[in-house]
Amino acid sequence: MTYEPKRADFSVPVRIDLYSDTQTRPSRAMKEAMLQAEMGDEQGGSDPTVWELCDRVAALLGKQAAMFMPTGTMCNQVAVATHCRPGDEILAHRDAHIQSSEAGGPGAITGVMFRGLPGDRGIFTAGTLRNAIRPISRYSPPQSLVEVEQTANKGGGACWQVAELHAVAEVAHEHGMKVHMDGARVLNAAVALGVAASEVVADCDTVWLDFTKGLGAPLGAVLAGPSDFIGEAWRWKQRLGGSMRQGGMNAAACIYALQHNIDRLAEDHANAAALARGMGQIPGITAETPETNLVFFDTAGTGLTAAEFAGRLRPLGVTVSVSDTFRGRACTHLDVSAAQIQEAVAIMRGVVAA
Ligand SMILES: *Cc1c(COP(=O)(O)O)cnc(C)c1O
Repeated sequence: MTYEPKRADFSVPVRIDLYSDTQTRPSRAMKEAMLQAEMGDEQGGSDPTVWELCDRVAALLGKQAAMFMPTGTMCNQVAVATHCRPGDEILAHRDAHIQSSEAGGPGAITGVMFRGLPGDRGIFTAGTLRNAIRPISRYSPPQSLVEVEQTANKGGGACWQVAELHAVAEVAHEHGMKVHMDGARVLNAAVALGVAASEVVADCDTVWLDFTKGLGAPLGAVLAGPSDFIGEAWRWKQRLGGSMRQGGMNAAACIYALQHNIDRLAEDHANAAALARGMGQIPGITAETPETNLVFFDTAGTGLTAAEFAGRLRPLGVTVSVSDTFRGRACTHLDVSAAQIQEAVAIMRGVVAA
């Protein structure tokens, strides 16, 4: 079967986009910052704005060095390729994005295998990790990397507590494994936990954060870690075609996001809580109480599948995403206001009643 690229339906405008926090458009002020950007050749190390972004992210995350990448997916692939060898095994939660949603990249590019760990809300314990570690022998794949996702996307945007990360990293390091964090939404976690980002990621050897989720930039992610790791990672960035040219324009949008869009993530979390409360009051719908900006809901009690529910909302200008037969996700972000949350709930109530 071939993959059919799907073109969006442009005939009915989307007014309230709860599909994903990737849907945000750069604001006018962000675009102004992009226009002002000094630029050079990122691949050759002469783009000053990209360097400024990397320095800022390294400082924010308390790591030695950082590199600018086009996407978070590429950060994960480059990190895996740099940490692991073909035949290695990565231990990650069984619902992790890196396993389910990156087109098999770790298998195709690095030749690694996964061991999926169970755990509530996308989070596994140090005990679960310990149980999954095999004695070293020539029969078993070398276990070289533990991967954690902060926040846990399919876990409902749940946050790993610093103590949980610490315990998991302790077991990993005891066994000679590195810890890599998929920090697509790590700043949502830092804001929700009320802890500095550098403290949230302190026990992880490598980490990346996405600028195209809640931070609202049009493109980019930054991978951070020890200088020697980032040095090695550059070869993979080059090899995979991730080295850019005048990256400064996009880096400027990311710098703008660091300056203006972190603290306001708390608004997205408040909006998500209000959305979950409102949806939970619609007969037949149950909504999980969110910790951050992702609201997972279940439509089974309405007699509608999640796809049917989403399909009825779309012509009315509201989008949500579908995860399973009756499970869907609504996501808050900087392009959705508190008033629009109330409006969306009213529209949802209407389509369920119809
Ligand atoms: C979005 C996402 C990614 C991939 O990031 P892109 O920038 O879209 O490539 C990886 N992990 C998680 C948890 C995500 O939500």
